[in-house]
Amino acid sequence: QAAADRASIQTLPPLLVDQIAAGEVVERPSSVVKELLENAVDAGATRIVIDAEEGGGALVRVSDDGGGIPADQLGLALSPHATSKLRDADGLAAIATLGFRGEALASIASVARVRVVSRPPGEELAAAIEQAGGPPGPVAPLAAPAGTTVEVRDLFFNVPARRRFLRAAPTEYGRIAATVQQSAMTHPRVGFRLTHNGRVTLELPAGQDPWERGVAILGRDLDDALLRLDRDEPGWKGASPMRVLALLGRPEIGRASSKFQHFSVNGRPVRDRQLVHALKEAYRGLMPADRQPVAAVHLTLDPAAVDVNVHPTKAEVRFRDAGAAHSLIRAACRERLLAEDLTPALHPRT
Ligand code: ADP
Ligand code: MG
Repeated sequence: QAAADRASIQTLPPLLVDQIAAGEVVERPSSVVKELLENAVDAGATRIVIDAEEGGGALVRVSDDGGGIPADQLGLALSPHATSKLRDADGLAAIATLGFRGEALASIASVARVRVVSRPPGEELAAAIEQAGGPPGPVAPLAAPAGTTVEVRDLFFNVPARRRFLRAAPTEYGRIAATVQQSAMTHPRVGFRLTHNGRVTLELPAGQDPWERGVAILGRDLDDALLRLDRDEPGWKGASPMRVLALLGRPEIGRASSKFQHFSVNGRPVRDRQLVHALKEAYRGLMPADRQPVAAVHLTLDPAAVDVNVHPTKAEVRFRDAGAAHSLIRAACRERLLAEDLTPALHPRT
């Protein structure tokens, strides 16, 4: 083959690099919501408002009352690999924030029309910046409440191949609602409000404890059927100690799907197969095999004993000793279930 026929090797233009990278972080509107919620929580928000339109494809807007971004840093906030949360490799081992890659806002701004308005509480004026798949625009001052609002319009407007993969609005909205619920479950002290096409679909007050929040999300009608568990597991066979805090649905309220299960590890919502499995095992023999437990399980353990950075969306976790973690969780949940009189209630509880 003649060398002339071969495509030459070329470095990709920066925008294309960002768009490709965005694919890892931003798959659909709910991934935008997840990233913006993480930023709001990291900023110390006590109340977060999420507005979505048309399943989030037309608009996702997240407003918080957190620490804000100084006007002179707004441009940086939107640039790739720019973060206020990580400084050096040592910091990576002790990440206390949900974000640290400095990728989310840059990724989103490469595939959508983004506007950020922010005012740190100590500043008199807010500042706004816009970016839509190109370089960021100028920073403009304006009046706005303290905190940050990030508005994301027309997701994938410049990446038609990705836009085509979006599902119908109700499906995309369903994922957004699930994402907000997961975050709200994990951050009970933070107030959340979600609207879709202008209608309030979820309203959770600030200052709840994990039980109150769990019941509010799993369903107030289930309150009597949710068992509370709060246990410090000392750890065994080399496993590190772990606090297991959970709401466990009585076996008779088991569902056909596992979507009524919420897990968090060190304050991070996770969707992890090992955890789903450990929970299911705790109910073994107590509910029909085709039913799935209703539960919220929060784990707190030594950050060194678990890696939450396995995946760019950080949904999976890797325990240093997966077998031991699995056994601890299963045993703690099972013991709590067995401590209860699990005879199904024959008459409705009143
Ligand atoms: P990361 O969260 O990994 O640092 P992001 O791209 O999500 O990366 O955000 C970049 C930076 O912008 C953050 O490190 C933070 O300083 C700032 N930022 C983003 N969202 C907010 C917010 N809601 N409130 C305050 N600062 C924010
Ligand atoms: Mg972030």
